[in-house]
Amino acid sequence: MLQKTISREIESKLRTRKEEIISCIKREMKKSMAAESRQVMGAGQEECDCAASSHSDYMHFMNLSSRHVIMRQIERALQKIAEGNYGLCEECGVEIGEERLRILPVAVYCRDCQELLEERHEICQ
Ligand SMILES: [Zn+2]
Repeated sequence: MLQKTISREIESKLRTRKEEIISCIKREMKKSMAAESRQVMGAGQEECDCAASSHSDYMHFMNLSSRHVIMRQIERALQKIAEGNYGLCEECGVEIGEERLRILPVAVYCRDCQELLEERHEICQ
């Protein structure tokens, strides 16, 4: 099982990330509403600078939606920590491993299962 200190460390990391994303989304929503009311089309000049932003509208949309995906993943990971089953692969039940969780704290699958699922296009991240 994952050590308490490590899951606590990851939990605080996840919470910080979550807050960052929330404030980022809020800022972008405010900016895009302001832009809409002025009927400004190019969102390029209204972008949030706290994430990898692009001057392409399509990329802008992708960044927004992937942020929502990340938010859901963070919520899921935090819930797992609270339930005490964080760090176990949802597919095969093996421990995901500290090293992988440090790199990817929202991982819910071990490396093998993740690769298999990605091959089947069931995970879009
Ligand atoms: Zn697995």
